[in-house]
Amino acid sequence: MPDKKITGNIGYRPTWAEVNLSNLAYNFRQVKKAVCRSIRVMVCVKADAYGHGLIPVAKKLAACGVDYLSVASIDEAVKLRQARIELPVLVLGMILKKDIPALFRYRLIPTVCTKDMAFALNREAGIKGRRIKIHVKVDTGMGRIGMLHKDVLEFVKGISRLKFVGMEGIFTHLACADTDKGFTCYQIGLFNRLKEQLDKLGINIPLAHAANSLGIAGYPNSHFNMVRPGLAIYGLRPKEGFGIDLKPVLSLKTRVVYFKRVPAGYGISYGHTYITGKETTIVTLPIGYGDGYPRNLSNKAPVLIGGRRFKISGRVCMDQIMVDVGNYPAKTGELAVLIGEQGKEKITAEELAGLSDTIPYEIVCGLGSRVPRLYI
Ligand SMILES: *Cc1c(COP(=O)(O)O)cnc(C)c1O
Repeated sequence: MPDKKITGNIGYRPTWAEVNLSNLAYNFRQVKKAVCRSIRVMVCVKADAYGHGLIPVAKKLAACGVDYLSVASIDEAVKLRQARIELPVLVLGMILKKDIPALFRYRLIPTVCTKDMAFALNREAGIKGRRIKIHVKVDTGMGRIGMLHKDVLEFVKGISRLKFVGMEGIFTHLACADTDKGFTCYQIGLFNRLKEQLDKLGINIPLAHAANSLGIAGYPNSHFNMVRPGLAIYGLRPKEGFGIDLKPVLSLKTRVVYFKRVPAGYGISYGHTYITGKETTIVTLPIGYGDGYPRNLSNKAPVLIGGRRFKISGRVCMDQIMVDVGNYPAKTGELAVLIGEQGKEKITAEELAGLSDTIPYEIVCGLGSRVPRLYI
């Protein structure tokens, strides 16, 4: 079993994810170093902190001095409040008018990009006799939520007169920071121009932010006075050649639960997409796509056993995978690493993402609730 520094209960199936909170703290410090001292850091902890576990991650970040947290929905924010995490929390996603009271109850900051919502918030705040802070979302080229940049000036002028709504922040999101430098600079330029126009009108919005992890590493002119890293904090690189030194936070582990010798020409798993070439040992590991381990890693993904690199043999099943380990003397109970290090070998979420034709975000966010998280 894992050693003593680890907290959490893995239950009766030996498949778990280890979350190294010291590495999380290291990555947070690295991100802080990559931006000017005066710039505030809002860490994105949406999607259960990218699959790493919302509450332990948020508590560690709070201890590290994070300024702000952001989540996708009110429900995620409520979990933070229920865990007595009192940091400012921005809800990045849209909310429905019927859910406005929850913003007051849990002291949350909504993203606003319609007049309608700003007025509804003002009304509710007036009734409660409490001001509410908002961040205005500007679409400079993402095409998702956010008011089209050309309409923002009028909008902001209008809501700056609202008595109970305080514009604490204004922000935008970069669409092509990994693929298109020209367009990214165009987006940053539009946002800059908007800020200048607001300044001229004497409308002061204290916080301005645009940079995700890619913006932080690649576009210093996107930092403004706050940055919004997600992936980098979890030690993952959104692309190769990412300029900040990071340590992976999550490892995914399991144990050999069965092994047997099978003859040459033996078909393995559904559809027999793997046939043994000679007599060999096939081990079974208790993890599958029901845990969020992608099925399209069938016959592709590496697995570390005994400090050696093997490959998944045959299709990934819902609850199990098989590995041809040749003549390696596998034992039941032996550790197998699917993400992480063993001996000199290492498998990263980035590597699995490449093999799975996706991005590292999806690998870690996809790990299901059936995989217990242990904290180091
Ligand atoms: C998720 C998210 C981020 C963080 O992006 P990373 O690429 O993980 O750093 C930043 N801003 C918004 C609006 C997001 O939704």
